[in-house]
Amino acid sequence: MIKEAKFVISNSNPGNCPKPDRAEIAFIGRSNVGKSSLINAITEQKGLAKTSQKPGKTQLINHFLIDEHWYLVDLPGYGFAKVNKKVKDGWEAMISTYLKKRENLCGVCVLIDSRLPPQQIDLEFILWCATEGVPAVLVFTKADKQSKSKTSQNIQAFIRKLENFVEEAPQYFITSAEKGTGKEELTEFLEELVKE
Ligand code: GDP
Repeated sequence: MIKEAKFVISNSNPGNCPKPDRAEIAFIGRSNVGKSSLINAITEQKGLAKTSQKPGKTQLINHFLIDEHWYLVDLPGYGFAKVNKKVKDGWEAMISTYLKKRENLCGVCVLIDSRLPPQQIDLEFILWCATEGVPAVLVFTKADKQSKSKTSQNIQAFIRKLENFVEEAPQYFITSAEKGTGKEELTEFLEELVKE
């Protein structure tokens, strides 16, 4: 269980992130996937990550210090329909530099909307992680929005798609920020990951 979560710094330059002197786990996903809600749920702080940021806002890497021990990083979401090429290129440069260079990064939670059939943009991002050796886990969100069987059907379809390209699909979690589903399991996993 997370006892304390404190905002540390936001920045647009991966080079300005805090000293990499503790373990770090990043959260990323399509905008509106429920990333802020999930971060707020697992840290049990309603206003920690801001929910529903609008496109066009400055895209920042946000560091939070968890239990004085590890960093949880909220990365800007991908897949805004409305952003122009300059913003998209800027996002890609910032995120790829961060993910490739951040030496204390233990894992990346890639959030995926469990209501949807496999989305190309999510598959592409996960395959990019696999190619670059960035350790990813899948976190399906908003599981309260539909039946368990629908959730499971979407997840299985997603895993099958991935298995066309990678030998072993990443580990996955099923969550709902609304209901707290999967929160403990995910937190336990993250806490184990930063211990290693
Ligand atoms: P972000 O853009 O990825 O940070 O997404 P947000 O956390 O701002 O969530 C986007 C929208 O989805 C908001 O209206 C949330 O209230 C809603 N939402 C997020 N997580 C859940 C969830 O687990 N269940 C339900 N029903 N709605 C959710």
